Amino acid sequence: MAEVLVYVDHVDGAVRKPTLELLTLARRIGEPVAVALGAGAEATAATLAEHGAVKVLTADAPEFADYLVVPKVDALQAAHAAVSPAAVLVPSSAEGKEIAARLAVRIESGIITDAVDLEAGDEGPVATQSVFAAAYTTKSRISKGTPVITVKPNSAPVEAAPAAGAVEALSVSFSEQATGTKVTSRTPRESTGRPELTEAAIVVSGGRGVNGAENFAIIEALADSLGAAVGASRAAVDAGWYPHSNQVGQTGKSVSPQLYVASGISGAIQHRAGMQTSKTIVAVNKDAEAPIFDLVDYGVVGDLFEVVPQLTEEVKSRKG
Ligand code: FAD
Repeated sequence: MAEVLVYVDHVDGAVRKPTLELLTLARRIGEPVAVALGAGAEATAATLAEHGAVKVLTADAPEFADYLVVPKVDALQAAHAAVSPAAVLVPSSAEGKEIAARLAVRIESGIITDAVDLEAGDEGPVATQSVFAAAYTTKSRISKGTPVITVKPNSAPVEAAPAAGAVEALSVSFSEQATGTKVTSRTPRESTGRPELTEAAIVVSGGRGVNGAENFAIIEALADSLGAAVGASRAAVDAGWYPHSNQVGQTGKSVSPQLYVASGISGAIQHRAGMQTSKTIVAVNKDAEAPIFDLVDYGVVGDLFEVVPQLTEEVKSRKG
């Protein structure tokens, strides 16, 4: 069976969920070989093996420590040369897409970004993408080189599939670009304790209807009761009520959670582009004619200042 390289996104050995989802998809097209880099790379092996990795290629070097992409591209290229895989799968984060694009150029292969599904085809893996503000779904395959495919978080389930997960050291020689770039300073972002927006299983978003930065506390309270990430429409972001890093939509982030709760958001096409592939959509809006209601699984016509706190209390009481 052909091997499929899976780039591992991890923090000090803790594997992030989108990588486990990639392993599920990789198993559909071949035998997953994971590539884990940097501090804690070897510590990822047990989790990766539990989810189907037949092999885990690891490398650690000071070059990986500084969040630079080029050393990781060098490593992935070395893994590609060592394995000759049927495909290379990378999580669709900002970093993942840059790594994937650079790798595709280096190995003279085609690339598909932001896939939402993947299946085996007669002539190579077939990727599904959601395009034109999610108005269409396309299926494509790469005809040149080794397919390099980035996959959006929450596109596949995490499945237990025990495999050998044999750890092998990957030998990497770094390019001039990798060794010639140095990080001079870093400013850590203050942690909210909430999940990352694009990876969260639940997203609770607020829009212009929230009517002020201070009122986002209502949205945050519901999010915290559900263990969710907080999103915002562009109108709310442009008004300065919430950071741009939380904007959902065409010019913000694309999310595809199990549950998306939109409060005080009208449902403009540019907002829908970033959340329309969510599995279950709930909206709270006082205007029964708001376009968001064309999209929802459950809609509440009402004032968010009454409905959302009640929802939060209900969730809390059910949790006991
Ligand atoms: P509005 O459209 O003003 O809707 C507010 C809603 O809140 C209304 O439906 C109203 O009935 C409801 N409401 C008001 N008060 C209450 C209350 N008390 N209780 C309940 N409901 C209430 N938008 C994005 O979101 N993300 C993007 O990435 C994005 N990119 C864009 C890119 C381009 C090139 C352009 C042109 C636009 C983009 N937009 C984007 C903007 C988009 O077109 C809309 O203007 C925006 O999404 C509207 O945000 P909203 O739904 O919060 O506000």
